[in-house]
Parts: sequence; C-alpha cells; structure tokens
Amino acid sequence: MMDKVEHAKELVAEAVIKHPNVAVACSFGKDSMVTVDIARKVSPDIPVFSVMTRYKPRETFEYLVEIDKIMDLNTFVYMVADEIPEILRKNNIKVKLLPTDDFNKAMEQFTERIYLTNPDECCKLLKIDPTRVAVENLAAWITGLRNTEGKIREDYKEVEHKGGIVKYNPILTFTEEEIFGYLKDNNISLHPWYTMEFPDGKKYRSLGCEPCTRPIFPNELERAGRWQGTSKCGGECGIHTKILKETKV
Ligand code: SF4
Repeated sequence: MMDKVEHAKELVAEAVIKHPNVAVACSFGKDSMVTVDIARKVSPDIPVFSVMTRYKPRETFEYLVEIDKIMDLNTFVYMVADEIPEILRKNNIKVKLLPTDDFNKAMEQFTERIYLTNPDECCKLLKIDPTRVAVENLAAWITGLRNTEGKIREDYKEVEHKGGIVKYNPILTFTEEEIFGYLKDNNISLHPWYTMEFPDGKKYRSLGCEPCTRPIFPNELERAGRWQGTSKCGGECGIHTKILKETKV
C-alpha cells in the first residue's frame, strides 16, 4: 500500500511539473477524497473543482461544506442551476452557475424524471457539459478513477491523452479496501452514506446523484448500484469516456 501511495504522489508531482495549470476533480466520494488528499500533500495549493447537480443527495452538499472547511480545499463548484444552493452560499463556497435552458427543454421532452427516461441526456447536460466548462482552461486534470470499480474502468491508464487535455489517474490500482484503509489511516471522515446499514447487508459503495445511486451487496461490482433500472446500469456518466476538450490545431 505504501508503494501505491508513493507512486500516486509521483504521478501527481509529474502532473504538476509538466502542467502548471492542472486541477483535481472531486465528487466528494471516497476515491475523490483519497485523490485530493494525496494531491494536496504533493502540491498544497492545487485547485480543486467539483461538478454538482440538483440531484446530488443533501448529505453530499453537507459533506462538501464540512470537508472543504476541514481540508481548506477552496473548492470551486460548477453547477447547472438558476441559484446557488443555500448551503453553499451560506458557507461561502465558490460556485459558477451554468445556464439551465437546455436542461429545462430536455425535461419538457423527456419528462421531469429525465434521469429515468433518458439518463444519458441528463448526465450530458448536468455533468459532462459542466465538466467541459471546468476543464476548458486546464492542460491537465487529476481524477480518482480506479480499475476495479467496474468493467468499463478495467482498461484505463494512469496517464491518458484524450483530446486537448491530459488526465492523470494516480489511484488507478487502489482497491476498494485500500481506499477505505487510506481514509481511516489519514483521519478523513467518510461521506455518511458509506456507513449506512441496510437489513439485507447491502451498502452504498459508489455515490452519485440520489435517484441513480442504490446500495449493493459486497460481491457485486462497485458501480453496480449506479443507474439501476436503466440502460446505463453499472456504467458511466460520460465524463471519463467522452472528449471533454478539442485538440487545438
Ligand atoms: S447521475 Fe442521474 S440524476 Fe445525475 S446527472 Fe446522471 S442521470 Fe442525471
């Protein structure tokens, strides 16, 4: 485990040296928190950004505020919304609001429960497009992707050159157990959903928006609780599969 942490630090250091305008993406899930902590230990002022949506659980907003204070992250939030959520406004979290017109039109077309009727479009408008805005001035970004989270993530590489941006995945080879171990060893509190107990033994193991996140059994793939009941089940929102930034010619 120590070797993996040291290797992750080396990757972050490489990202920072090669790309002065690099930032860490943080969803405030368990993997993000390990990534942010490692990145901050290497580069204490590295910018941290987060794409939030209107459908994230209340506990995620509360956890963002709590962790932002404890770790002094100075998180910059991007969000498709008309108003800054009260909890972020009251706690002086910096938020860039993005226009809601396209999402409102999509809801008219695909119903108010667009996350069920067309989750790809919902993720595109609420997650992928805001991430494109977040990375438009970056040469590189650092994420908490891991190979063992789900089938689609098995083939990811530690450094990816995709479109006009480089992506570093420093904790790619960490296991779920190692992630929880790192957070415990470094006294980083968990998002409260990870500690919720269900009578059938299920747990939340991968967190996203509330309507698209379900608890699962220990023997399932970590992302099996995402988008259950839709064509996207166990899959990806798209920020790691789509081109986020065109290559400059
Ligand atoms: S995770 Fe669900 S609610 Fe969130 S943007 Fe994607 S489809 Fe919409």
